[in-house]
Amino acid sequence: MTFATLGLIEPLLRSLETLGYQTPTPVQAQAIPAVLAGRDLMAAAQTGTGKTAGFALPLLQLLAMEGPKVTANSVRALILVPTRELAEQVHEAVRQYAENLPLRTYAVYGGVSINPQMMKLRSGVDLLVATPGRLLDLFRQNALKFNQLQTLVLDEADRMLDLGFSEELANIYRALPKKRQTLLFSATFSDDIRLLAGQMLNDPLTVEVSPRNVAANTVKQWVVTVDKKRKPELFVHLMRKGKWKQVLVFAKTRNGVDALVEKLQGLGINADGIHGDKPQATRQRALDRFKLSEVQILVATDVAARGLDIEDLPLVVNFDLPIVAEDYIHRIGRTGRAGSTGEAISLVCADEVNLLSAIETLTRQTLKRQNEPDFEPEHRVPDTDASGQVIKKPKKPKKPKTSGGGGKRNLGKWVDTGEASAPEPSVKPVRKVPVFNTGPRKRKP
Ligand code: AMP
Repeated sequence: MTFATLGLIEPLLRSLETLGYQTPTPVQAQAIPAVLAGRDLMAAAQTGTGKTAGFALPLLQLLAMEGPKVTANSVRALILVPTRELAEQVHEAVRQYAENLPLRTYAVYGGVSINPQMMKLRSGVDLLVATPGRLLDLFRQNALKFNQLQTLVLDEADRMLDLGFSEELANIYRALPKKRQTLLFSATFSDDIRLLAGQMLNDPLTVEVSPRNVAANTVKQWVVTVDKKRKPELFVHLMRKGKWKQVLVFAKTRNGVDALVEKLQGLGINADGIHGDKPQATRQRALDRFKLSEVQILVATDVAARGLDIEDLPLVVNFDLPIVAEDYIHRIGRTGRAGSTGEAISLVCADEVNLLSAIETLTRQTLKRQNEPDFEPEHRVPDTDASGQVIKKPKKPKKPKTSGGGGKRNLGKWVDTGEASAPEPSVKPVRKVPVFNTGPRKRKP
């Protein structure tokens, strides 16, 4: 199969040739003809599967071949994404695909001045990539009109719900023309996503290119158990032992990111960090430098690192496990992309056993444990398996209590109050259902 047999026009084929894309990926093979035929789409596709081209190529073709010329402040196709970085990344991909087409494309997101964005929108944009909050700001200030909108794409829809954008999505949804094409992409199909799809999509074609909720099998994954306080030391040990060259590291909190970066920099290691508290320009600079291999270790929170496409990233380290199990799939999706292989190592302490168990249940696998000599934890991490069980060993006879020592550990508690940091403010572990939903809310157990 080729891109030409999928029905793509010559200007797009030329762009793909320049980019060196030879064969459509499975999600592209399914999505491109369906989108060209005007169908709504509900696609479960992991990052790294080529999903961006899967929706962007046919969308650009429809914009180039059909419909009226865009008028002032109007937009003909809208791609909603959860983060600023993803907005930049998706727009960059769109820009490359549209190289040979007479279309105007643009990206808007928060954290930067709104005025240049308003100026740019004055003459209208064929395809706009946007984060929900900034899009609504622009709409409310009459810088944007949706009367010409023909297609809406929700990219990483599950993440938008995780980040608490359900209210914004509902408001945007209300402002859009009822007659339109809608494409929903999500790494995972949770119940909330299915509910959202039920509201927004019309007789959608379902595309599922990888088994539900299974992590990329091109990524070799394992766990090293360790006491929480020894994680930084273990990280440096593993880094030196493995001679790691370029690593993306995930920490749970902004303070966690800053503390690890400071520690690494103090040891003369070339590290930088990105999180939601840093200005957009600083985040982008750190990311660009990491992509150019000018930064060796990039430490990030989930909110900052979502959907980033970094070519040939060999290794992802979960310094902390994610609070939302689905994020594990997204995190490790940063490596092993587009057919290459990668590794994902998780440093897991006893406090995180329930998070580990949730990840194993979601990904239907028991992660291999490969402990480091001299780093075996004093606080043992109970065994887990993909059935969701935390396997408790038979209790040993109680030793008489010594003074101090912290007493009983609460293994289910994921925010360590000993850590002087709050979780990322915009991250809400519990998903909210959009306000336009009716009927009772189904909560996960
Ligand atoms: P995505 O899942 O959209 O983030 O894409 C992951 C990576 O695969 C990006 O770097 C794309 O440029 C690349 N890619 C997408 N489709 C193809 C293709 N058909 N052939 C080769 N590379 C591709």
